[in-house]
Amino acid sequence: MRVTDNKFFGRVFTVIGVPFEDVRYSMENFKFVNELVAKLPSGCYAAKVAQIEGVDVSVEYRKIPGIPSKKLYGKIAFDKYGGMKKNPEVKELWEVQAIFKGASEKGRFAVLYQGWKSVHMFDVDADYLMQKYKTLYGITVARNEFVNVLKSKVPDKEKKALIELEQFMTPAFEEEISNRYWVLQDLTYFHSKIQQECGQGNIHYMCFSGPATPLPSYTFVTQHVMQETVLSECIQETRRLDKTTQNKALRNGPSTQPSTQPRATPCENPEWCKCNLVYASMIRHNSFGKKTKLCIPDKMGRLQNLDKHKLGDEYVVVECDSECGCSRNCPRRQLQNGGQKMLVIMCEDEAKGFELVAGENIHAGELIGELVGELFLTPQQEGDPTGSPVAKRSKPNNSSPLDRTLQLKMKDGPFYKTFSVFNPNMAMVSRQIGNAMRFIHHSANPNAVFIETLSRLIHKSPIIPRMAVYASKDIAIGDKITAFFHASSDSVVNSHE
Ligand SMILES: [Zn+2]
Ligand SMILES: [Zn+2]
Repeated sequence: MRVTDNKFFGRVFTVIGVPFEDVRYSMENFKFVNELVAKLPSGCYAAKVAQIEGVDVSVEYRKIPGIPSKKLYGKIAFDKYGGMKKNPEVKELWEVQAIFKGASEKGRFAVLYQGWKSVHMFDVDADYLMQKYKTLYGITVARNEFVNVLKSKVPDKEKKALIELEQFMTPAFEEEISNRYWVLQDLTYFHSKIQQECGQGNIHYMCFSGPATPLPSYTFVTQHVMQETVLSECIQETRRLDKTTQNKALRNGPSTQPSTQPRATPCENPEWCKCNLVYASMIRHNSFGKKTKLCIPDKMGRLQNLDKHKLGDEYVVVECDSECGCSRNCPRRQLQNGGQKMLVIMCEDEAKGFELVAGENIHAGELIGELVGELFLTPQQEGDPTGSPVAKRSKPNNSSPLDRTLQLKMKDGPFYKTFSVFNPNMAMVSRQIGNAMRFIHHSANPNAVFIETLSRLIHKSPIIPRMAVYASKDIAIGDKITAFFHASSDSVVNSHE
């Protein structure tokens, strides 16, 4: 699936604070707000009506940001908006949310409606669904394929039955309106909608462990959120890098000529692609002076030999921007386009919590997604209105056997990621605000790697530290997606909620 021009611009950075301009830099990809509010995705009419006229959902599910806390339910709502049985296809208030096997007649599917409790599910004609809900039908087929792979992996009959409920509805289960299953259905639907709005892959939430497992409760975003002061810091840092670039450019002669490429580029417009030059002049070394390694994608957009990556290796990616003169389909724009893979956020073990699982096969070198969250500066400079843990900055320890890059990386962990190339004083926290990548757990034998990426749509934009997640090995559908955080992670209990 390719993103349209329109959707491309849908992914903007959210800045909390007073809007400001900067004469040198473009602010086109920044949205300034007073506070971050988790809203329902655009459309979602029935869910919005339910939020006003509906009845409360169970208490424990009310606090998940961006998920409706009320549902349409019962005779009054049904009398008002009903007429379903005769004509299930008409009203905006009956927008299909999820499709299941298990209808009482052949050629029909059991359908859950957005904004309505599960007791108001109906059986709907399969042909109608395939035509009118093409996208959702495709999502259903992909989900069923995943469910079948998962079922084949577990020997336990009871567990198989639990997994089967992800695709097969029963009348008894429809009556269990306070089952957490329905909250996970909402997370799946609304988070996938947000992903679709910016051309990214769907997300499914599934839980096969006990009811005590904390539900994933966080504000879902597709791009970093930061305070105004963090953006100011990014602008200052960009100026510093730009100055070194200009000095080098002067030494190398005028830049009105096609680029003399020090290395090959897969760019659609190779003669003019500036990516390798940008790398050489800006981020050839990390913040501590350690040499970085530029990863250049192939024509398919895949990076090579990522399985050789070891902790402390500074791999970086530079993506095309407006200066390269290529289209948005250029293979050197992976992160800008965002992850296209179907992903599953799944819990099968209460102790481990929710983990990220491949919803389809992923090739080695392919982008899985971008790890996003709140960008933070040091605690001294940064207030913490959201209650997130603040940056764990500390002075370098000269007596440590580890170099400074490694010293910094030892602070990484679930929900917390440092940037050693772009800015060691900045960290990304994804506990309260984030996306599916926050569910990646540590493994001593990982299949994914985090890579700092210089990715700007517009060359004149300030550089914002960004972190891509690429597959370092082939990952099969149903496999957990894991990364190597640091050696001591083995002893750290990762509690993902
Ligand atoms: Zn390009
Ligand atoms: Zn380029």
